[in-house]
Amino acid sequence: MDDYQSILDEIYTELSPRFGEGHVATYIPELAKIEPQKFGMAVITADGRLFQVGRADEPFSIQSISKLFTLTMVMGEPALWQRTGREPSGNAFNSLVQLEYENGIPRNPFINAGALVVTDLILSKHGNAKEVVLNFVRRISGQSDISFNFTVAASEESVGFRNKAMAYFLKSFGNIKGDVEVVLDAYFHHCSIEMSCVQLAKAGLFLVNHGKSPYWSVPILNARETKYINSLMLTCGTYDAVGDFAYQVGLPAKSGVGGGILAVMPDQFAVCVWSPGLNDVGNSLLGTQVLSLFTTKTGMSIF
Ligand code: GLU
Repeated sequence: MDDYQSILDEIYTELSPRFGEGHVATYIPELAKIEPQKFGMAVITADGRLFQVGRADEPFSIQSISKLFTLTMVMGEPALWQRTGREPSGNAFNSLVQLEYENGIPRNPFINAGALVVTDLILSKHGNAKEVVLNFVRRISGQSDISFNFTVAASEESVGFRNKAMAYFLKSFGNIKGDVEVVLDAYFHHCSIEMSCVQLAKAGLFLVNHGKSPYWSVPILNARETKYINSLMLTCGTYDAVGDFAYQVGLPAKSGVGGGILAVMPDQFAVCVWSPGLNDVGNSLLGTQVLSLFTTKTGMSIF
């Protein structure tokens, strides 16, 4: 079964009366300006066939989907699993409470605290945590025109008090080694990267193909590390609704408050959907439902 185009068209027709449902993220002022009716979806198969519908070529703010790429960059770092855990948090992605009683070790690399630690690891390794991440994302997706949105980064910086508190709190536990302001600046920029559904699906192909991207001659990860990342996406990738998401969709996925969700089916396809209206936990409301429909209609899920 791989006539994905007719399934995408069917889903689009079925869901289009509901475009705009959910609430766009308003805590970052620039994100509050996005039209909630926008919708795009792209599927790329392991052998490179691309299917798309709606605004699949329109770049949007990837926000926490960037955590998938930054984690990938540090998978080989020996300190990684001493400095962050790999359990679902059961708490909001920006919670400070858990960090206090767990002594500054974030539950996993996909909550904000964990992603800040990952950014710090990148900074220690490369001496620069901003451009190296952008270049990495460009290379794994084969798209040289991907960029930061500096307005979104500045907008988040201007109101990012909780992330700042978290980064300084991590520093107090010794779990940020570098300059906190440099880590935060890099983190806000990673979140501001703009990519389209097509670009994100392409970027996700290495997770479909056991660590190999068709756009990069050397493997990005080995097969074991790729398994680890996909497992973390399944257990920690969709905020504090990860159980419900796995139940409905049945695929490893990473979401962001820009309304994007990137999901992968190993050996088969990467799929990205974008609908900016979020549900109460911060996942794209229609995006979750679309992926649920997609795995049901295609019969393709990891279960
Ligand atoms: N930049 C956002 C924040 O730190 C990312 C949130 C997200 O997409 O989960 O709040």
